[in-house]
Amino acid sequence: MKKIKLQPAQEEIEIGKIICVGRNYAKHAEELGNIVPENPLLFLKPSSVFIPSGEEITYPSYSNEMHHEVELVVLIGEEIKNADPKEAEDAILGYAVGLDMTLRDVQTKLKSKGHPWTLAKVFDGAGVVGEFISKNEYNYTGEENIKLWINDELKQSSQLKNMLTSPVNLIVYISTIMKLERGDLIFTGTPEGVGVVNKGDIITAEIEKCKKIETIVK
Ligand code: MG
Repeated sequence: MKKIKLQPAQEEIEIGKIICVGRNYAKHAEELGNIVPENPLLFLKPSSVFIPSGEEITYPSYSNEMHHEVELVVLIGEEIKNADPKEAEDAILGYAVGLDMTLRDVQTKLKSKGHPWTLAKVFDGAGVVGEFISKNEYNYTGEENIKLWINDELKQSSQLKNMLTSPVNLIVYISTIMKLERGDLIFTGTPEGVGVVNKGDIITAEIEKCKKIETIVK
């Protein structure tokens, strides 16, 4: 997936780097037995592993435990480095619903060895990105509900304000590590309720005011 669409004008924007945040909701860190990190926990996914809403996720042959993680995705609109909160806020171009698909069995093995998470997080179809709504149309308050269903059964449900580090503060932090550029995406972490998906499952995910996404696992 090389480009995303930004509503309302359906503008096409080339995707840059994709930075994902781990353990950004306390109840999710808790459900996996993880300690909440002192600073945001970051990892990267290449844009080529993502698919748009409506396409199918293929189950990798080397995993039996692919998990769903619904997340708010933030689109960066301009280059920033060492941003203050005002600059970080100004750099946000839009918001979308995303799925950060994770091979939990692979990740558990990697974690036990102290290895990077790459093989658990990076595989073809390792994520879905919906259409972005421009920041001006969205009016982020934190009160928005974030939800995910498997075959119409509600599995994840929270509110964006439950993030430990807000989108603006994530941008402030990340920009002290690496510059952010137009087209970069930030996956802001998943709330509690993650779990296994099986072949044939239909995943739908929604964040209030964003466009809903849907995918099938095959
Ligand atoms: Mg995640």
